[in-house]
Amino acid sequence: MPAKRGLPLLAMTPAPTPTEPGARPAQAGAPPPAPPTPSSSTPLAAGGAGALAATGASTPNASLAHHGPHPEWADLLNTPEPDDADGPNSSLLGPRARSASDAGVLRRKGHLKEQDPLIEFMLAMHATHTADEVAAKFEGWVADHRRDPHRSRLKRLIPGIGAFFTPLPLTQALAEYDEFFALSRRVYVPPNFAELRHVLNIAQVHASATAGLELITFDADGTLYADGAHMRHDSDMIAHIVRLLRAGVHVAIVTAAGYPGDAARFEARLPGLLSAFAALDLPASVTDRFHIMGGECNYLLRVVPPDDAFGADGNASDGSKASARRRPRRLAFVDDGEWKSPEMAAWREADVAALLDAAEAVLVETASRLAVPVSVVRKERAVGVVPLAPTVYEVLEEMAITVQVELGAAAAERPRPSGGGGGVGVGVGGGSGRAAAAAAAASSSSPTSIPTPPTIPDLPFCAFNGGGDVFVDVGNKSLGLEALKSYLGLDPSAVLHVGDRFTSSGNDAATRDCCSILWVANPEETDFFIRMLLGDLEEQGQAGVE
Ligand SMILES: [Mg+2]
Repeated sequence: MPAKRGLPLLAMTPAPTPTEPGARPAQAGAPPPAPPTPSSSTPLAAGGAGALAATGASTPNASLAHHGPHPEWADLLNTPEPDDADGPNSSLLGPRARSASDAGVLRRKGHLKEQDPLIEFMLAMHATHTADEVAAKFEGWVADHRRDPHRSRLKRLIPGIGAFFTPLPLTQALAEYDEFFALSRRVYVPPNFAELRHVLNIAQVHASATAGLELITFDADGTLYADGAHMRHDSDMIAHIVRLLRAGVHVAIVTAAGYPGDAARFEARLPGLLSAFAALDLPASVTDRFHIMGGECNYLLRVVPPDDAFGADGNASDGSKASARRRPRRLAFVDDGEWKSPEMAAWREADVAALLDAAEAVLVETASRLAVPVSVVRKERAVGVVPLAPTVYEVLEEMAITVQVELGAAAAERPRPSGGGGGVGVGVGGGSGRAAAAAAAASSSSPTSIPTPPTIPDLPFCAFNGGGDVFVDVGNKSLGLEALKSYLGLDPSAVLHVGDRFTSSGNDAATRDCCSILWVANPEETDFFIRMLLGDLEEQGQAGVE
């Protein structure tokens, strides 16, 4: 059974704590922070923390009461909080590093990274139901909700619930998961958030494979590769993507990263994949199924041959097709007119600038309120702030939510039809919204000198916590997915988005409006669920999956 083939890996790596991405170099005009080093026990060292980082692999497990100023204290104080191992403290170093590191002792086991009304409801049900009962009831409720989303029991129980684009075989998924984690046999320890997320993902994998998967989209940072990294030549995901493409499935990377007019910078995030396309000599009929949607929804790229490799006769410049094949494939922008929706094509640059001006003002004011020194990164379709000193995830969350609230204040007075959520969890459309007039008035008291325009144009936006920065992008991934579906002519049930940020401050949340989702915590989980998916496709005899 394909699912079972994959499960032992998860059993071997049962740490489901979501890791959060660090800074988002894709957006940074300034040099990005050093990439996280999740394998290192001293991530501070990666950024040159010097004495602060020289703690080796020590774990703060000693009794504190008797150590006082002894060396063990230094080890303890300088060992980062595990949850922050890939967070901003891991790479942003400055004069406050000492205090931020010290503060790591005060363990903040918060749940900002694990928030979802559906999963929380399921968790609460375990007080009165067994795991099997919860799975069976939810499976039935999802089916009921798909029949009548406005009058369903699920709608009454969880008013913000969105749409489900496939059934969810939760009892089957629980049975598979149960073999290794004994959920149904545990008496005193109920499932935790990540365990239910895994069960929902397993159900979604099986459902999407059964429904006939035609497009799978991946978030990049934190999903395909570690945040701030790129897809190296040895990435397991390369083989997975090639197998999916050969099986006739469209694959797209839908990312916040946006490099207007600069395909080479997109290529630089995927050198291993583009080289693999060339090394395998994949025909255009296969590579045509691969796309990148950058800037959430602002740039679409496709794969092209090396532009200098072929002469007019189709042969390489040295007359050899073989040498041309060795050159990595290139990426090229698809003309906006071929894929952008009329709404997106109608965005005026002046309105975009006004929205970003307002967002920048709110971000800078909020950073000032929170006493976080930041650098502002302004791009064609995005603006963000990057802390210049270590801070904590909660502070970035406060900034992201503040800008959501401020920019979206008037949007509440001008509600728009919502498609709701899909797949796992509730479609809160997190972080996305539509700016409206006067919403930036709140920043009129800004202590900064950044001017705030009196009105904000009515444009969709996405304000999110990048883990190491906070950004506001024009548009959102839902628009990107919708445009891609339309461009490829696909039905929503045939689309699956894989991402790591589905909380209200995450930029993957908006995709719930338009397709099923898999919520992963890190690239290793992506690898696990895609292997499971490929197993399902293979079992179905889908052509090309070996
Ligand atoms: Mg991500």
